[in-house]
Formats: sequence, structure tokens, C-alpha cells
Amino acid sequence: MGRRETVIDTDLFIPFIDLKAQYTGHKDEIDKAINDCIDNANFINGSEVKKFQQELASFLSVKHVIGCANGTDALQIALMCLDLQPDDEIIIPAFGYVSPAEVTALLKFKPVFAEVDPFTFNLDVQKLESYITKQTKAIIPIHLFGQGAEMGTILSIANSHNLFVIEDAAQALGSSYYFSNGNQQQLGTIGHIGCTSFFPTKNLGCYGDGGALFTNDDNLAQKIKMIANHGQAEKYNYEQVGVNSRLDSLQAAILSVKLNYLRVDNARRKEIAEQYDQFFSTIDEIAYPLKAMYSEHIYHQYSIVLCSKVKRDEFKDYLAAHNIASMIYYPKPLHLQQAFKHLGYKKGAFPVSESLCDRILSLPIYPELSLQQIDYMLSTISRFDFN
Ligand SMILES: *Cc1c(COP(=O)(O)O)cnc(C)c1O
Repeated sequence: MGRRETVIDTDLFIPFIDLKAQYTGHKDEIDKAINDCIDNANFINGSEVKKFQQELASFLSVKHVIGCANGTDALQIALMCLDLQPDDEIIIPAFGYVSPAEVTALLKFKPVFAEVDPFTFNLDVQKLESYITKQTKAIIPIHLFGQGAEMGTILSIANSHNLFVIEDAAQALGSSYYFSNGNQQQLGTIGHIGCTSFFPTKNLGCYGDGGALFTNDDNLAQKIKMIANHGQAEKYNYEQVGVNSRLDSLQAAILSVKLNYLRVDNARRKEIAEQYDQFFSTIDEIAYPLKAMYSEHIYHQYSIVLCSKVKRDEFKDYLAAHNIASMIYYPKPLHLQQAFKHLGYKKGAFPVSESLCDRILSLPIYPELSLQQIDYMLSTISRFDFN
């Protein structure tokens, strides 16, 4: 009996993501796009870039899409467009990816960390106003794991304090926000500037590095293009210190193909999440991701919260022993990182963020997961003692 189970277990391996399967699914189309691009040999600023930017703009219903080299650059370029001064303060979630805080510090602005909500993992808007000072210039909400931060409240707070809103939509491309007046808008197109990443594992990923900025503001769009291109207003005329950050033609060609599948892929992620939800709703000791009324969730990650760090680590090891990958996003909050030590935060400053880092775990979720793999995961998980 035990022997048979062992055979089933070792037959299946559930990687955290399966980029090879993703490629195989659209191999002919992608190979053709790559070959056409190489044939044209316009590797930088080729027609593929313009085409993809237009396609994504129409997909998102946003006026301007400007490609760049990666998502971190997108955030840096966004901050460079706002005419900020050294020590101006930018509000950033303490629980999330490093890029918003990293580029803020790099540009000599001051990251001001903010607590997140224990159930959505996004900015806790109840506390948001308490971080605002005379030096505050911008808020960077991260739409974490594929679900929007509470943009309605964030926008009204930002408006009343005259702050910029830069959305980090790297994990939420193709996810919608539902305003209380019934309007619906794509995440990343709501604030002054939206930023995304096409890192291969994102919901829309390329085959290397890539990123983009979104805006509906013509002046900001001009400025973004200029800064991303060495600060050149026209060739060899440098208006401000800029950077060299481009989405290359090959990546754009690949992204044009993959954009056609983003809606279907996101829908499949939601179906798998639904199955996970149903399963975890029967386990009292697990908090599964809360679906907010105001946002779609496209499950870049499916993250559960366990009762303790010990249980989380035990569960992770148990999954690994059964060939199921899992990841901790994120193991350490930003305010306790060595890189931001100079800001002077202490342990205990953001209890929710700190506790999530100890107890959260992300499970495999991607469109290519087979029914057999999902069944195997759920039956394996059901044999774990969460008490
Ligand atoms: C991936 C990611 C980024 C950075 O993107 P890169 O392309 O790797 O620079 C920024 N913010 C969030 C929330 C991300 O998930």
C-alpha cells in the first residue's frame, strides 16, 4: 500500500512554474515571431516594439505605453519624471518586492514604509494618512500577487495631499479595478504612472528582461520617453540626466504573441485558485487569499497564511518531500533589511508585515498545471496536519 503511494509520488513533480511547458504550448507562433525579428535585424527600436506598445495600450485602454529594460527601471524612470528633490518622501509598502524602495533610495529620495492589510497583503489604507508629512511627494502601491491595492481610497488621499501615485503593477497586468461608482479600469492605468515588468515568470513574461510604463498624461509620456532615452529631447540634445532603458525588439515580438493569451491564462489561474479556495475553506488553520470587492485577482501568486512560522516551514518541507515546490514571498520585510538600515526602523514597527513574512507560503499556480498535477497537490496537502 505504502509502496504504491510512493510510486505515484515520485512520478509527479510540481515545479513552482513551468516556462518550458508555456513555450511548448505556443512554440510555432513564438519561433516565427523570433525568426521574423532576426530576419529584419532591427534589434533596437524595431517595428516590433512600436507594435507591441500599441497592442498593450489598446489591451489596457491606456493612452501611452512606453517599453523599457525591466520593471525596476520602469519605477526608477517614473520617479525621475516627477521633479522631486533629495529627501522627498515616498510611501511604500513594507511587505512586498524591493524595487520601489530600492529605486527611491538610489535616487536619494526617502522610502517611508507603510503597513499592509493582513488579508489582502496590500497597503493598509486606514493607516496611510499617518505616514504623510510635508515632505511626502508620492505613494507607490504594489498590487501584490495579482490583486489591486485599494486605489479608490489611495487616490482620494493622494488628491487631498497633492501626491503622485505610481502603481507597481508588475504582478497584476490584466487585472481590473472596480470603483465604487461602477467604473472599471485596468490596474496600472489608474495612477499618474503605472509600471510593469515582463520578467519571464510574470503573468505576461518575455524571454529575458523587459518592462513598461503606462500613463494617460501626454506630458508625462513625453518625459518618460526622454528620460528612458538618455534624457534626450532630440538627438544629442540632453535636457536632463537620464538612463538608457529599452525594451528590445526580440522581447517585444515575443510579448506580442503572448499578449494574445494573457486573458485566457489569467482566467485559468482564477479557476485553479477557485479549486484551492474550496479546498482550503475546509481547513480552519489556513487563511487563503481574500478576494476584495474592489479588485479582480489574477493570482500571480496563490499565497496562504499558516498559524505559525514553525508550521509554515514544516508544511514547506512536507511539500518538498512530495515533489511539490513552494516559495516564500517574502521572507523578510523591507524595513528590517540591511540595505534600509539607515532609515532607522526597528523590529515591531510593522507587525502585520513581519508576521506575514513568518507565516506566508505561495503554492504553484500557472495555466499549464495539469488536472492530474492539481489533484495530486490537493490530495497530498489534505494528508498534512495543519494543527
Ligand atoms: C518583478 C517585480 C518588479 C521588478 O521587475 P524586474 O523586471 O525584475 O526589474 C517590481 N515590482 C514587483 C512587485 C515585482 O513583482
